[in-house]
This record gives sequence, C-alpha cells and structure tokens, in this order.
Amino acid sequence: MRGFSNSVLSCLERERLEEELSEARTRGRNLSRLRHLTHREQVALDEREQAAQTRLRDHDAAHGCQR
Ligand SMILES: [Zn+2]
Repeated sequence: MRGFSNSVLSCLERERLEEELSEARTRGRNLSRLRHLTHREQVALDEREQAAQTRLRDHDAAHGCQR
C-alpha cells in the first residue's frame, strides 16, 4: 500500500461498477416481469450480474477503497 492522499470517499471506478451491478439486477427484474424468460436468458442475466459482482469485489480487494 502506498500513498495516503488517495481519496477513499469517492472512487469513480467503484461507482461505475456499482452502477453496472444494479443495472444488471434491475434489467433482470424488469425483463422477468415483462415476460417469461427462457432458461438460457435467465442464465445469461445471472452470469452478467455475477460478473459485475466479481468485478466489484476484485476492485475492492485491489483498490482498498471500500467504505
Ligand atoms: Zn476504488
């Protein structure tokens, strides 16, 4: 770890990743409300959400900006 002036209050990259995650969640919810999703669609949405979650976790681990 180096540098103490890194702002931990706002990390734009983390904000972006959080947005991506909530977007994936909202999208999945909305779609499944509109119509019945095929198994393949459901899996794709889950994967997208999990990928976003993983990126966020990786970012926290690498960046240490988690509040
Ligand atoms: Zn960060």
